[in-house]
Amino acid sequence: MNNENKQNNNNFISKIINEDFQKNKNLLLHTRFPPEPNGYLHIGHAKSICLNFEIANLYNGYCNLRFDDTNPNKENKKYINSIKNDIRWLGYKWYKRAFYSSEYFSILYKYAKELIKKDLAYVDQLTKEQIREYRGTLKNVGKNSPYRNRSIEDNLKLFKKMKNGFFKEGEACLRAKINMSSPSIIMRDPVLYRIIFTKHHQTKNQWCIYPMYDFAHCLSDSIEGITHSFCTLEFQDNKNLYNWILKNTNVKHYSQQYEFSRLNLEYSILSKRKISILINKNIINEWDDPRILTIAGLRRKGYTASSIRQFCHKIGITKQNNLVEFSMLEYCIRNELNQTATRTMAVLEPIKVYLYNIDDDYEKKITVPNHPNNPNLGNHEIIFTNTIYIERKDFQEKYDKKYKRLKIGTEVRLRHAYIIKAEKIEKDKNGNIVTIICFCDTTSLGKKPINKKNPAVIHWIAKKNTLPAKFNLYNHLFTIKNPEQKENFLSFLNPDSLIIKNGFIEKKIGKKIIKKINSNNYENLFFQFERIGYFCLDQLSSKTTLVFNRTVSLRDSWKVKMKN
Ligand code: ATP
Ligand code: MG
Repeated sequence: MNNENKQNNNNFISKIINEDFQKNKNLLLHTRFPPEPNGYLHIGHAKSICLNFEIANLYNGYCNLRFDDTNPNKENKKYINSIKNDIRWLGYKWYKRAFYSSEYFSILYKYAKELIKKDLAYVDQLTKEQIREYRGTLKNVGKNSPYRNRSIEDNLKLFKKMKNGFFKEGEACLRAKINMSSPSIIMRDPVLYRIIFTKHHQTKNQWCIYPMYDFAHCLSDSIEGITHSFCTLEFQDNKNLYNWILKNTNVKHYSQQYEFSRLNLEYSILSKRKISILINKNIINEWDDPRILTIAGLRRKGYTASSIRQFCHKIGITKQNNLVEFSMLEYCIRNELNQTATRTMAVLEPIKVYLYNIDDDYEKKITVPNHPNNPNLGNHEIIFTNTIYIERKDFQEKYDKKYKRLKIGTEVRLRHAYIIKAEKIEKDKNGNIVTIICFCDTTSLGKKPINKKNPAVIHWIAKKNTLPAKFNLYNHLFTIKNPEQKENFLSFLNPDSLIIKNGFIEKKIGKKIIKKINSNNYENLFFQFERIGYFCLDQLSSKTTLVFNRTVSLRDSWKVKMKN
């Protein structure tokens, strides 16, 4: 991964760090990645993970994994495990062990009391709605709470009562005493602690008061000795509060917050809250549905860790919010699979072809390369007989001069094999084509036709060499480029986001795959089904049903749906 690190040398964050090193030659760079365990990680998190872990590596520093677990209502252990698994899979190692903000609850409680003692925090008993109303707007300054001027003693007592479960949820909260007319709304007496009676996945029932993100985050950074705390641009205003809390508590270490732009990708939703809605409404299956850009979804779709890292390097780190083209993500995986995926043939929508001039017992074995330019990937054998399957789309009954594939009276080349010419079709009583009857030019194997242009090449599988398989063809989940910005994002769902086909793969390849499934080895099961796209074996495949997920099309042509 070392070579991949290079681009991090060249962004505004590296500039800041280089300047910091000039000021302090002994600086030990310490970053952190702080996920809230309320969902799976997505490609946006990958951007932040690459930044935090790689910049720490680059400067011989450390990167912590810290679960920002301050809201037991939304969090659980399943998410903790998936987050750890995904970071490891992406290829990163966190410093020492996983940390949790909840480990610091006792220290944070002391810091909160320190603020109360300095008359910089008070227990408020306005309702949530009143707090919102009193906060004011960008145009209008806020209004002081009637509870703002309680004595320090009263506040200490009430805060203790909050901690001891005397108040119900929403009946009291702790607020910083800053300035209700601050131009920055965040500084208008932000809430520091609220009451929640839900059992916490780490601290169980030990606490019923929980620190807010703004209070917990800066102090956790300080406790862990984080030097550079990177977050996304929405937290720019929170920086004042971050610094205010560190300045007014007796911390030993001052961390510094820097912001970069969050990743937004075309046709996609990244917000965990919105992904949860898609799951709850059964629009997608789970957090690893290949149609969403969670790390688990991308992995299941066939994306490799290196392709995701490469994507993160390509988009870089800036301070400008923008919408990244989806094709950039696809480019990264296509580029990689082009070098590594085994070439083989699959027929997704089979139609039978009978070659009438080939004997029924004729069988020719043909050895074909697994990769056109990389002999190291080896060969495999295919079988040619008089009954084969081709793609329904590769034959057209209606005469069309422009149609270059198989039609009555014209020739095509079977990939790695012979030239055939369609002569007749057989239909069932409903008028559907059952068999295309063709002549096979038995002199054409490996030879260019004399005095004729090379015909189009199509893929095929001999009936004898087929193994049934299911193919999941994925398209964008949304029909618009920026669903994340639409409140009614559910109105823009693509009805064709998943198209399932039942067809065939080559038996030899299938048998190899089944052998791997039997020995629980799911590595390198990436294929280029010639002329169709890159696919990977789906994890839900069984020995009896092989399922393939389309990772990406061969060219940037996703809009041409495999629907017809
Ligand atoms: P979401 O809105 O998707 O739920 P979040 O910001 O609430 O995301 P956290 O688990 O709190 O998710 O985020 C952990 C870290 O990942 C934070 O530092 C956050 O800034 C960063 N992060 C989250 N989403 C993105 C994104 N789209 N691009 C870059 N960084 C992101
Ligand atoms: Mg969050």
